[in-house]
Amino acid sequence: MAEPVRISEISLYLRCPRLVYFQAMGRKVWPEAASPSNLLMREVTLSLSEFEPEWGLDLEAFLRESLDRARLELPTIFRDEINPADLLAAAEAVGEVLGDFASRLSPNLDHLIPSEVEVDLRSDRLGLSGRVDRVVSRGERDGRRGEDLIPSMIKTDRPPETGVWRSDRLRLTGYAILLEDRMSTRVDRGLVEYPWAGEVREVELRSSDRRRVLRIRDRVRAINGGKLPDRPRDGPCTGCPVLDSCETRATLASKFF
Ligand code: SF4
Repeated sequence: MAEPVRISEISLYLRCPRLVYFQAMGRKVWPEAASPSNLLMREVTLSLSEFEPEWGLDLEAFLRESLDRARLELPTIFRDEINPADLLAAAEAVGEVLGDFASRLSPNLDHLIPSEVEVDLRSDRLGLSGRVDRVVSRGERDGRRGEDLIPSMIKTDRPPETGVWRSDRLRLTGYAILLEDRMSTRVDRGLVEYPWAGEVREVELRSSDRRRVLRIRDRVRAINGGKLPDRPRDGPCTGCPVLDSCETRATLASKFF
């Protein structure tokens, strides 16, 4: 049986279908490693799942403890990929916004907890798999655990003016489909967490998005099987790490067709 299409491949397809092709050929298609400050912010945001208001610790103090722990642990997690001086500077940058982050988040904390983080999902039946940053379980506090599951993604880039980016909504839809398959429950909402902006945005997941995710899954499968997709007219080609190979493929293809 073929390996399931990963939800991250669906995101890559939305960026450019040809990136999926070159990735399937073993090329590195995503040059930007996350910055130390974004890595720290992500760890701190994930830690919210461990926050227990009953402990009496305020949210900002909890987040500062999480930041200290992440600063100590990141070199172990990423080994020599992080320069210690960069990490220290990054921790200071994250520390500066934590107070604001905590005060914006406090009133809406029940949007994110209780939750489970970095949840692996896979469905051979659907031919999809992925790891979602967080799955929020609303209703648990009312004794209704598992009735209302909401996939959530952490994004360290800037949010759009309103709502969430379409590619993020489709990615959340992919996680929702997988959650439904595992839990036999309906998942019709998703969250995007923008910690630098101190915002959590909720989005409704549409039927049309489900259809689109499944069609992209089929296309990614075909590409992984060797099909070279057309070059999009508006691809993000500037700085693309496979630009030379991609232009060569276009030339070769045009000779035959
Ligand atoms: S060069 Fe442009 S079209 Fe080719 S893979 Fe990169 S982004 Fe896509």
